[in-house]
Amino acid sequence: MISKNRSISTILLGMVCLGLCLVLLGGYATPLLASSGKTSKQLKEAQDRAASIKKEVSLAQAELDELQSAAKEKSDKLAWLEERTQEQQEAYEETLTRKNNALLVMEHTSNDYEAAVQEFEDQKQAYGERLALMYQLPKESIFEALLSSGDLQSYFSTNRLIRIISDTDELMLARLQEAEAYAAEMKVQAEDSYEDMQRLVKEADELLAEIKADRDISAEELKAASSKISEAEKESLAWAEEMKKAEQEIASLQEKYKKELAAEEASRKAEEEARKKAAQLAKDKSESSSPSVSKSGWVWPVPSSSRISSYYGYRLIFGARQFHRGIDIPAPSGNKIVSTKSGVVLKCSSSKNEGNYVTIDHGNGILSKYKHLSRYGCSSGQRVSAGQVIGYIGNTGRSTGPHLHFEIIINGKNVDPLKYLRR
Ligand SMILES: [Zn+2]
Repeated sequence: MISKNRSISTILLGMVCLGLCLVLLGGYATPLLASSGKTSKQLKEAQDRAASIKKEVSLAQAELDELQSAAKEKSDKLAWLEERTQEQQEAYEETLTRKNNALLVMEHTSNDYEAAVQEFEDQKQAYGERLALMYQLPKESIFEALLSSGDLQSYFSTNRLIRIISDTDELMLARLQEAEAYAAEMKVQAEDSYEDMQRLVKEADELLAEIKADRDISAEELKAASSKISEAEKESLAWAEEMKKAEQEIASLQEKYKKELAAEEASRKAEEEARKKAAQLAKDKSESSSPSVSKSGWVWPVPSSSRISSYYGYRLIFGARQFHRGIDIPAPSGNKIVSTKSGVVLKCSSSKNEGNYVTIDHGNGILSKYKHLSRYGCSSGQRVSAGQVIGYIGNTGRSTGPHLHFEIIINGKNVDPLKYLRR
């Protein structure tokens, strides 16, 4: 019984732990995608089921406790009745012994009485016979007897002797009668005593039977209670089993839910990764697919943009007519700028007007210049090939937005870059 209680306690403890796990799990259950949402719903249902089973478990346990306490009472009562039965059995047997003794005494006194009666009767008869013999003798015979005795003296002597004999007989008879009366009294007493004993035996026997009957009823009740208990225990165990199943289901659903969440997270990441890659690819493509190489072998300096916002030549800058020494190519900050021809980086420098700029020497007196960079992608003295990244679009220096200002200088004179880039 104790071990069963312990096992139920273990289950209750398990449910508490489970509850905690569920709280923790609920903590990171973020808005869900399809499969984990379904599992989450199943998990919730399983938890609800576990909660109602938990109720059943505690109800079954309460019933079991009640039955066990009732059985304990019955068992105590039975133990008491067993004890009483034992006591009464002993009392009964003692009374029975006393009755048997009384029976022996009664038989003995009865024999005594019969002996006394017999003795009295025998003596009375003997005396009677003697008297009858004496008094029924004819007078003459007595007389003759007297005469034959020889003298009167002897007659009187004989007569007196008869009298003495008679007195002695009467005394003896009186004593015998007394003895007979005493024996009769003893006999009556013994009979009374025996009857008393018989009554006591009967009473003791009846009491014993009563106690035994009570004991039998009690034993029967205990047996019934025990069978109820074993049924209740079975039910309790069945609920515990049910609880265990529910816990297992919850655990497996939790595991499934976790895996699904992880899978969904992974798939979300993969999608994002793929999206980024595709974007990068599109960007790379757009950058690489721009009109790159002219017939004369010049590479367009901004792969991601082919637009020109300001051309080479005279134009109005900040309200004044000025000569624009190159072309302006607008593009988002950070976009790649590439070398238009192979060469050596002459300078990576910075000025108030030009911002960060790079000059590349292509040999034969030909230079290219890239201005307003956000940062450099090369260093002075570095050999670069056509199309190699040498910097990134920016808005540094005297600039009204992110763009590349690009110049080509031949033998110290600026020329229109489009003549080379697009020819
Ligand atoms: Zn410009």
